[in-house]
Amino acid sequence: MKYNKLSKSDINDLATLVGKHNLFTENIDIEGYSYDESPLAERYYPKVVVKPNDSVTIARVLSFANEKKIPVIPRGAGTGVSGGAIPIHNGIVLSLEKMTRILEIDDKNFVAVVEAGLTLANLRTELEKYNLVYPLYPGELNATIGGNVATNAGGMNAVKYGVTRHHILGLEIVLPNGGIIQSGGKYVKNTTAYDLTQLVIGSEGTLAVVTKIILKLSSHKQTREVLLLPFTGLHNAIDAVPEILKLPITPVGLEFMEKDIINIVENYMGWEMPHHEYPAFLMIIMEAETPEVIMDYFQQVNAICREFGAIEGLIPDSERAKRRLLQMREKFYPSIKNYAKMELIDAVVPRSEIARYMNKVKELSRLYNIPIIGYGHAGDGNVHLHILCLGVTEIEWQNKLPELIKKIYQIAISFGGAISGEHGIGCTKKKYLPMQFNEDYIRTLKAIKKALDPNNILNPGKIIDLYD
Ligand SMILES: Cc1cc2nc3c(=O)[nH]c(=O)nc-3n(C[C@H](O)[C@H](O)[C@H](O)COP(=O)(O)OP(=O)(O)OC[C@H]3O[C@@H](n4cnc5c(N)ncnc54)[C@H](O)[C@@H]3O)c2cc1C
Repeated sequence: MKYNKLSKSDINDLATLVGKHNLFTENIDIEGYSYDESPLAERYYPKVVVKPNDSVTIARVLSFANEKKIPVIPRGAGTGVSGGAIPIHNGIVLSLEKMTRILEIDDKNFVAVVEAGLTLANLRTELEKYNLVYPLYPGELNATIGGNVATNAGGMNAVKYGVTRHHILGLEIVLPNGGIIQSGGKYVKNTTAYDLTQLVIGSEGTLAVVTKIILKLSSHKQTREVLLLPFTGLHNAIDAVPEILKLPITPVGLEFMEKDIINIVENYMGWEMPHHEYPAFLMIIMEAETPEVIMDYFQQVNAICREFGAIEGLIPDSERAKRRLLQMREKFYPSIKNYAKMELIDAVVPRSEIARYMNKVKELSRLYNIPIIGYGHAGDGNVHLHILCLGVTEIEWQNKLPELIKKIYQIAISFGGAISGEHGIGCTKKKYLPMQFNEDYIRTLKAIKKALDPNNILNPGKIIDLYD
C-alpha cells in the first residue's frame, strides 16, 4: 500500500494540532524513535514524532492522518523486542511519553485509572503508598502500562497471576478515524456486547491507540521469598516443574536457567551466583501471608526436587541477597545482548512439553553448530531462546538463521505451542504466522483490522500485512 508523505504544510498543520513544543522533526530528536529493543530489527526513521498530552489531541492527530493516509505508530517506552514500535513505513510516531498521570487510585474497588504512558516502575512506587499492588511483573520496569496492554505482556509472575489481559478492567481507546471509546469499567463481570477491551489488548497498536487504562489491583503485599535449586542437568530441572505445580499452592514465578546464562550474567554484573558450577537451576518465587507458609512450601519443593537430582535449595539469608538473586535474573536479557549478537525467540509450549521442546532445540543447535541458550518462565511454558552468533562467521550465521528459526517454530507448534508467548509479533515474526494459523484465521485477523482501520494507517506492517 502506498502512503502519502508528510509535506511541510502537513507538518505545520500537525504542529497546530499538538502544539509546536510537542512536535519533533530534527534527526537528533527522532533518532531514538527509529528502533526498539529487538536485537536484529532494522532501523526506520519517522518523518515526525508527536508527544500529545491528552486523548482529544491524539484523536485529532489520528483523524488528520487518516484523512491524509499517513501512517501513525503508537509508542510507549520502546522496550518491545519484536519491532512493534519501529516506524517501518516512516510517517508519524505518536509517543505516549507525556501521558503519565495516575488519574485515580480507588481503594474501595481496588482499581487504578492511569494514562497509557505511565511506566510500570512509577505505578509500583505510587501504589506502595496505598498498600496496594499491581501483581504483574513483565521484566522491564521502564515499559509503559500502555505498552504492556498493547503487547499483553507477561513476565515472571504469570504462573500465579496470569498476564496483562487478566488485570485490565477497561480502556479508553482512540480509533484510527479519531473516535474515542470507553470500554469496560470498575467492575469485574461484564458480558455487555463484544469485548473491545480484550480485542485491543495484545493488538500491538494496530487497532487503536490506548490512552487510559483501568487496572485491577490486589489488596496488599504479601511476604515474598526466593528458592534457588541447583540441578545436575537441565532435563532433571524441567522434569521437576510439573511435579512442583501439583502442590496445592501455586508459586508466583517458576523460572529455569542454564549454567551458560549464569556465567554470562555473572560477568555482566560482576557478581557470583551461589552454586554456579551446577549445569541447571530452577528459581521459585513464592508469596504468602506468613514466612512460615513459604518455608513449609519450600520444604515440599526441596523434597520433590531432590528426587530429580537437585541439591538442597538455597534461600537467600538477607533482603540484599534476595534482591541480588532476582536482579541477576532480571539482567539476563541485557547481559546476553551485551555478550554476543543474537536473535531472541519466545515461543510458548504447554509446560509439560518444555523438556521435549528443549531436547529438540539442543539437537538443532548441534546440527547447525550454533549455540542456543534457553531460560525462562518454566511455570508457564514460555521459554526464551537466544540464538547466538558464535562459533560461525556472521555471514554463515545470518544464512542459517531463517531456517533454524523456522524449525524451532515448527517444533513448538507441533507440541501444541505458539510463536510468541509474551513479546508479540511486531514486524519481526509476522512472516511465521501462517505456520500457526490457517487461511481462515488469517482472513479473520485481516477482517478485524480492516473493519477498524480501513485505510491501514495505524502501525501498518505489524502482525499482518493487510494488503499483500
Ligand atoms: C530487559 C527487558 C525485559 C523484558 N521482560 C519482559 C517480560 O518479562 N515480559 C514481557 O512480556 N515483556 C518483556 N519485555 C518486553 C517489553 O518490555 C514489553 O513488550 C513491554 O510491554 C513494551 O512496553 P513499551 O512501553 O516499551 O512499548 P513499546 O516498545 O513502545 O511498544 C510495543 C508495542 O505496543 C504498541 N504500543 C505502545 N504503547 C501503545 C499505546 N498506548 N496504544 C497502542 N499501542 C501501543 C507499539 O506500537 C508496539 O507495537 C522485556 C524487554 C526488555 C528490554
